[in-house]
Amino acid sequence: MRYAIVSDIHANLEALEVVLADVATRQPDGVVCLGDFVGYGPDPSSCVERVRPVLQSAVVGNHDLAAVETEDAVAAKFNPFAYEAVLWTRQQLTGAVRSYLAALPQRVMRPDEFLCVHASVRDPIEEYILDVETARASFGAAEFSLCLVGHTHIPTVFVEAGTSVIGEPLLPDQPLVLRADRRYIINPGSVGQPRDGDPRAAYLWLDLGAQRATLVRLEYPIVKTQEKMRTAGLPPMLAERLAYGR
Ligand code: ZN
Repeated sequence: MRYAIVSDIHANLEALEVVLADVATRQPDGVVCLGDFVGYGPDPSSCVERVRPVLQSAVVGNHDLAAVETEDAVAAKFNPFAYEAVLWTRQQLTGAVRSYLAALPQRVMRPDEFLCVHASVRDPIEEYILDVETARASFGAAEFSLCLVGHTHIPTVFVEAGTSVIGEPLLPDQPLVLRADRRYIINPGSVGQPRDGDPRAAYLWLDLGAQRATLVRLEYPIVKTQEKMRTAGLPPMLAERLAYGR
């Protein structure tokens, strides 16, 4: 089975369109989204409507929850720019999109295949897996051979081999071989707001038959997204960071 794994679209329709066009040429068996469909970007409802029909599975992200919650339990932890974007996003969501986001599960275990969560295995909504110790806690929190996470917007792989856990950046077009005697936590980076210094949209091509996971990076018209954000009155810093991939 071959899958396209997308995460952290963050209401960036230009990045999403470029990713989905590339995915379509590869004819995957399924597309899976690891959450944060909305937040930060200028096209929250359009992005959900565009990606929803092609998704086989999806989990909810912290920004999705913040956008649909009526009280600020999740959004209260956001920085001021992200919080401003939450308030704007809440006003943009259609009823159907709000219902869809509110009904998304926090974790999906695909039979004999892989576990999907937005943030981490022990905390699917908020914990960032940025180091080996946090990854180790997630390896210990459930049985899986492969877990896919988003949330950090940084393409990364953590590998457990026996008692050792190592973490490495995931580089584009360099297939990672998935060995049966190891366990993996893979982060495909972000479609709509990369933070690894590379502003290109990111997604993961996962070929389970060939036991290969490959990061794909794609250019998209960043200036168009930035213009939409400025027109919408979203915080300028959120538009500027797209150009730097930070
Ligand atoms: Zn995110």
